[in-house]
Amino acid sequence: MIPSGEPRPAAAVILHSPDGGDKVLLVQRSNQMKFLPGFYAFPGGKVDVQDKQLAPGDSAWDTARVAAARELFEETGVLIARGSEGSCPVANPSLQAARKQLLEGKISFREILEEEKLRICSSDFLPAGVYVTPIFSPLRFQTWFFLCQLPAGQSIEIFTGELQKAQWNTPREFIQLWEQGNCLLSPPVLSLTDFLAGYPHGSWPGQLQERVDRIDSQKDPIRFYPDVQLVPVVCPGPGMPQAGNVYLLGREDFFLVDPGPLDESGLAAIDNALQARKNQGHRLAAILLTHHHPDHVSQARYLGEKEKVPVWAHELTRQLLKNTVTISRTLQDGEVLELPNGAWRNWRVIHTPGHAPGHLIFFNEQSGCLVAGDLVSTVTSIVVGPPEGHLATYLNSLKKALELEAKMLFPFHGPPTLLVREEILKGLEHREKREQALLERLSRGRATVAILAKDIYRGLSSPLLPAASKQVQGGLIKLLEEGQVRCLSDGGQESWELVE
Ligand SMILES: [Zn+2]
Repeated sequence: MIPSGEPRPAAAVILHSPDGGDKVLLVQRSNQMKFLPGFYAFPGGKVDVQDKQLAPGDSAWDTARVAAARELFEETGVLIARGSEGSCPVANPSLQAARKQLLEGKISFREILEEEKLRICSSDFLPAGVYVTPIFSPLRFQTWFFLCQLPAGQSIEIFTGELQKAQWNTPREFIQLWEQGNCLLSPPVLSLTDFLAGYPHGSWPGQLQERVDRIDSQKDPIRFYPDVQLVPVVCPGPGMPQAGNVYLLGREDFFLVDPGPLDESGLAAIDNALQARKNQGHRLAAILLTHHHPDHVSQARYLGEKEKVPVWAHELTRQLLKNTVTISRTLQDGEVLELPNGAWRNWRVIHTPGHAPGHLIFFNEQSGCLVAGDLVSTVTSIVVGPPEGHLATYLNSLKKALELEAKMLFPFHGPPTLLVREEILKGLEHREKREQALLERLSRGRATVAILAKDIYRGLSSPLLPAASKQVQGGLIKLLEEGQVRCLSDGGQESWELVE
């Protein structure tokens, strides 16, 4: 599904230290966080309703300034606010105690500022850009970023919980760590850090001010890893459109995976991304398809012809697409696709049938990146049912993917994640639960697929019922093969019951 509703307002601080030269602070998010677990980020968080009351002016930037100040204080202990004589406070036990009370919800940020006779000054929070989370994530934020200086006499103190640690480095050092795959940066953090790395420390405020109104986060390339670029698009889905991720894998030479959008805006997003890469002198080597479903292949033929590149897929996908897309090379399980250059240029092809007979995933051993197509989704459950889906085969494919011990998962649906093992295990557990629910329902008597789907997927909206029925059929076929259920035909109507 496409995330509905407006993105939630948020604020973040690029904190730099006058003593540390051109160093900036990044905090690593804990693996338990729902949004971007394990990623490095600028300290920040959601705008609170109370932030508006403290804002030094009426604009969204002003409210975000207060949220930035509060979140920075909560997460790092740094308080950027000024007293009547114009200076920021130095670290002291009373502020430390206030921070603890704020985190425990016993006191508000406003009360702390009043108690300490402090106020937020606009000039301490220089606008650095506004970024909106793309549609691939069901959790979306519109984040206002600020450049701030660490006040003299204050330092960073992280309480573990939401954050694992804090790290000072120059922007260039952070980019180098990212390029080696040692530091995951969310797209806005990458964009801002990369920008700052291009200028001497002293000119950051001026350069950011120059750029702040020109940032179009929808056009910024989204790269979670150096050799994996994500292009968010809207694709046809079962019953309703879905957000999907088209990937560009590699650097100077690259593959395009699963060009599936039906609408003009999706095609334009892919075209823009390809054009930007060509402008850098990069070359598209081939289009890869994970499987034959329309949301993964809709633009394969058009783009293949337009870009004059071949389309590659599994033999079984080729057969299913034979009237629509010409597959010029069939890919085998275990073969390695080698790009001519780049640190991470080898992508191993792994046949993972179950959702679709010719389903492939692509794994880069050097980086541990796994491009998973529809084997795993981080937002929905994958439909596995007849005629082309097969549940027992699908479960084996999930186990095969688990053995890769991948470090980062790039699904077609949903945000990429570091929690690869957890996501795959979640998929396996989910199927187990559904099977138990099916057995439990059948223990109460014979039923048709439609009744089973309604009983097991309670409260599901009607456009999604066909997909639910398919899941139920997939489950029944597995149980039939195991001899646990049988299918009966009463006057043309099929129903299912347990084998005693
Ligand atoms: Zn699919």
